[in-house]
Amino acid sequence: MEQRQELLETLRDELIERVDRYKVHKMRLENPLDRDMEEQAIELENEDVIDALEDEAEEELRQVMHALERIEEGEGELCERCGEPIDARRLEVIPYATLCLDCAESEGEP
Ligand SMILES: [Zn+2]
Repeated sequence: MEQRQELLETLRDELIERVDRYKVHKMRLENPLDRDMEEQAIELENEDVIDALEDEAEEELRQVMHALERIEEGEGELCERCGEPIDARRLEVIPYATLCLDCAESEGEP
């Protein structure tokens, strides 16, 4: 299962980069030079979209980091709720899953 750890580490680095990019982008939006009103409205809308994307990336990053912790503790393939092994196919589809399908469904997580 080393492959999964590598995959998660790559995913983690990508997500960190992505969050950084959103932050830089927002910084630019927050420092408007001279724009007219219409342009500012569009920019505001964009900022909401970027906020949503940033939240999404941060949430995914949180899950990836958590899954990596579980792997380091030697429990990466076990459901953190019921302790049963997580289906290998499930881990292939969602490498950062830390719950088995049954537990995830009862918690409303992917
Ligand atoms: Zn479970």
